[in-house]
Amino acid sequence: MVVKKKKIVILGSTGSVGQSTLDLVRCHPDRFEIFGLVAGSKIDALITQIKEFKPHMVALATKVDAEKLVSQFQGDIEVLHGPEGASQIVTHASVDFVMSAIVGAAGLLPTLAAAKAGKVIGLANKESMVVAGELVTKEAKKSGSFIIPVDSEHSALYQCLAGQRIEDVKNLILTASGGPFFKLPQEEFASITVERALKHPNWDMGPKITIDSATMMNKGLEVMEARWLFDVPVAKIKICVHPQSIIHSMVEYKDGSVLAQLGVPDMRVPIAYALAYPERITTGAKPLKLTDYRELNFFEPDFEKFKSLAIAYRVAERGETYPAVLNAANEVAVAAFLSHKIKFVDIPLLVEKTLDQHKSFVLSSLDDVLKADAWARKITQENI
Ligand code: MG
Repeated sequence: MVVKKKKIVILGSTGSVGQSTLDLVRCHPDRFEIFGLVAGSKIDALITQIKEFKPHMVALATKVDAEKLVSQFQGDIEVLHGPEGASQIVTHASVDFVMSAIVGAAGLLPTLAAAKAGKVIGLANKESMVVAGELVTKEAKKSGSFIIPVDSEHSALYQCLAGQRIEDVKNLILTASGGPFFKLPQEEFASITVERALKHPNWDMGPKITIDSATMMNKGLEVMEARWLFDVPVAKIKICVHPQSIIHSMVEYKDGSVLAQLGVPDMRVPIAYALAYPERITTGAKPLKLTDYRELNFFEPDFEKFKSLAIAYRVAERGETYPAVLNAANEVAVAAFLSHKIKFVDIPLLVEKTLDQHKSFVLSSLDDVLKADAWARKITQENI
């Protein structure tokens, strides 16, 4: 039997999730083919991918870089640039699946375009849900697009919610590894270096998300992401620190039953779940042998030590433009930390300072989100 291959676009193909997605496509050539690739500025990495996967359309962030590609491939593929170019690729009639894996607010416009166009979206760009969850989910509902989360925790929740009724949910329980500083005494936070913060105990991820994991802002963003993905009030979203990252998240139901999804930490598993949904495919992930672990531990989160987490919960409750401001301020602060301009402990302080200066308003369009985002970047930069 000839099965129609899924035609895939990857937003952020040279990043960590993008590369893992290509690994899976490489392993399952009978199921998937690459229709389009979108990268930021890693032009050489994109060229290598183009040669291997032969996409029909590609885009880079800037026009200058896009022109370099055009001269290299001589009209064999369509080369576009910027968020508009990326949007044009994801909305193409041939596209079956869009992997949204651009880090940060840059992924917003093309993800919204894919939602409006009714595409199936694998969502790794959590910022889309954090800053514009209401807009994106509304558009997805209207067009019949559906969003399958790729974030490991949300993929776990999605799997634990399958076949259940959302009104029977008592709590969504996001597990958190706690990051590299979960056990570090608060007094020592002032001396945390970039090198130390970049060493995550369980997950191998890009630098921005690894720092977010160390401050636990990542978990705060995930609370907001879950709120919109599953349409559940913030009060029903809990965090449980689980250092081994074997349970990826849980759903507690009103009858007292708790469903959990487990596995060895490997991003290929949630990526493959989204790619192949509703089927399952092999991923190359190591099998889980629980007896290798002997014990799994669980702790309450420490909101005093991880100030970013407390700030994120407050912002999640407040809604409006606050999440966009928090996200932008955090991106600027993390970049400043990575380039050694501020200390690790300054990250939540900077984010809070920008939030305090913000006059929030109700979101009605993507422009509102972008306005709040631009304002927050400018103010945070000034505050550095
Ligand atoms: Mg996650």
